[in-house]
Amino acid sequence: MSIIVVGSTAFDDIETPKGKRDRIIGGSCIYFSLAACFRSNPRIVSVVGKDFSKNFFKELNKKGIDTSGLLVKDGKTFSWGGKYKSISEDPETKFTNLNVFENFLPIIPTSYKLKNKIVFLANIDPDLQNKVLDSLDSKKFIGMDTMNFWINSKRKSLDRAFERINLLTINELELGLITKKKSLEKSLEYIFNRYPIKFLVVKKGSSGSLLATRNSLNWIPCYPFAKMIDPTGAGDSFAGGLFSFLNNVNSFDKKNILLGMIYGSAIASFTIESFGTNKIFNLSKKEIDNRYKLLKKIAKII
Ligand code: AMP
Repeated sequence: MSIIVVGSTAFDDIETPKGKRDRIIGGSCIYFSLAACFRSNPRIVSVVGKDFSKNFFKELNKKGIDTSGLLVKDGKTFSWGGKYKSISEDPETKFTNLNVFENFLPIIPTSYKLKNKIVFLANIDPDLQNKVLDSLDSKKFIGMDTMNFWINSKRKSLDRAFERINLLTINELELGLITKKKSLEKSLEYIFNRYPIKFLVVKKGSSGSLLATRNSLNWIPCYPFAKMIDPTGAGDSFAGGLFSFLNNVNSFDKKNILLGMIYGSAIASFTIESFGTNKIFNLSKKEIDNRYKLLKKIAKII
């Protein structure tokens, strides 16, 4: 089974209290796919510039990730710089260079449309997320993420997308930015009163994540023993884990979403243990399953 993921492919400059790395490969759809490839065949829709190594495409392909929709265009690859003052805080964005994303029109290859029921709109310009939504012909389960950069610059476009998705993953700070409410309770009320979103997953960093629906609230913990080096990509890996889990179940109900969140938490706990994609790139299914089992016990879902 496969999942279509639309998102950024990037060169990241990252600084955390544990060190600094320049021009390492990142981007929302890269972290998502690397996390999702253990339980699905993710199909990427994204763009890079001529400065991006084609060898990396081959590495992704070896993991069952389809890159037919990962286009190479004249120009430079999207790049982002982030600095984490403390490992538990959100990063301060140093720069965002959209580069080839400025004129990118996401097109889902016909080969992608055949066999998938899930589409994930990873963090990317909401105009592009909407273009993808416009092009979807049949009923799909649609997940979405976003961040402060787009909330501040393209709110109307985000609202249009929120009207058409099933599940939103968002970090707590960014949820507050959207709703302009100080309390989480009021924020949840705002989202469910305003948009037809059925499932809202609020990421709370090292405090775990919440699954909110119109009439329920559940909490999933983080893996407690992770050695944090670089939090970049944790949110995208979490989403990749969650959606690849859903790719293997028959119904997208609350229980399966909670189990998927535990699986996503297990994978994200590896992502943060190295700079960039290093750790998640070399991960084994067994390592993930061990943390998944432990988290499931802690969360007491089953
Ligand atoms: P996260 O999972 O939230 O830590 O996302 C990390 C990834 O988001 C990094 O690898 C960045 O390249 C990417 N990113 C940062 N800013 C943006 C943006 N404005 N649009 C799309 N992707 C971004």
